[in-house]
Amino acid sequence: MVRTWPALDVRSIPDLFEASLTDYDVTAINEGEDGWRIFFHTTQERDRAAVGLRAEFSGLAIEPVDVPDEDWAARSQASLRAIQIGRVIVAPPWDTPVTIVVQPSMGFGTGHHATTRLCLAALQQLDLRGLTVIDVGTGSGVLAITASLLGAANVIGIDDDEDAISSARENLGLNPRARVNLQVGDLRQAASANADLLMANLTGALLVTAADQLRQLTDSRGRLILSGFMAREERDVLHAFHPLTVEHRAQEEEWLCVTLR
Ligand code: SAH
Repeated sequence: MVRTWPALDVRSIPDLFEASLTDYDVTAINEGEDGWRIFFHTTQERDRAAVGLRAEFSGLAIEPVDVPDEDWAARSQASLRAIQIGRVIVAPPWDTPVTIVVQPSMGFGTGHHATTRLCLAALQQLDLRGLTVIDVGTGSGVLAITASLLGAANVIGIDDDEDAISSARENLGLNPRARVNLQVGDLRQAASANADLLMANLTGALLVTAADQLRQLTDSRGRLILSGFMAREERDVLHAFHPLTVEHRAQEEEWLCVTLR
C-alpha cells in the first residue's frame, strides 16, 4: 500500500489566507501554478483546517486530497523481493522471476549440475536485451531458452547429438515465450555467427582444442561464458583463449565458470 499525505488543494489564494494557516498544524506548502497544496500531519488536522478555512473564506475552492508519496513507497519497498507460497510467486515488478520448464531426460542440462547453475548465474550478470547469443552444446536447451527469456533477440542452440536437439526442441515447446533456433551440428563445423555472447558448457579438453572455433563464432567485441572445466584446467583454458581477459569468475566445488571478453 502506498503511503499518502493528507493535504488541501486551494485555488486562487485570497489575502490573509496564509496568516490563517498558522492556526493549523501545517507541515508544508507547495505553491503551484494553479494554487497551493497544503500538507498536514494528520487527516484529522487537515479536515479541521478544511472546515475552519471554508467558514473563514466562504466560496473558496478547498479540496481535500490524499497525496501518494511515491518516494516513500520506493524507499520502503525497493528492497522488496519476490516471495513464493507453494507454486505461487508474488513479485514486485523489479524482481519478476524467470521460470524455465525443462523435462528431465537422459540429456544433460536439467539445471541440477553445478556448471549449468554457474552459467545461469553468469548469464544474469549481463544485459541480454537485443543480443545475438549462441549456445554451443545446448543439451536440453536450458541456457539457450533462458537467454531468450532474459531478452536476447536471436538465440542459436547447437549440439552434435541429435537426441539432445530433440529434447531441446521438446523443452522449447514447454517454454512458449522462448525463441531459439536449434541446430544439430558439431561446433567445429559451425559457420561464423558473430554472436554478442557465446555460451559453451563443455569440457576443459574440448574448450582448449576448440578455442579458435569458439572465438570465430563470437563477435570480436563479444563475450564468452565458458564452463564445464575444473579448477585444475583453468590455466590451460585461459591460455587457449589468450588474449581474452576474465570479466567474471565463479566456482562451485571443483567446477568453474568464466566470462571472457
Ligand atoms: N548447455 C547445457 C548442456 C551442457 S552438456 C548445460 O549447460 O546444462 C554438453 C553438451 O555439449 C552435450 O549436450 C553434448 O552433446 C554437446 N557437445 C559435446 N561436444 C560437442 C561438439 N563438438 N559440438 C557440439 N556439441 C557438442
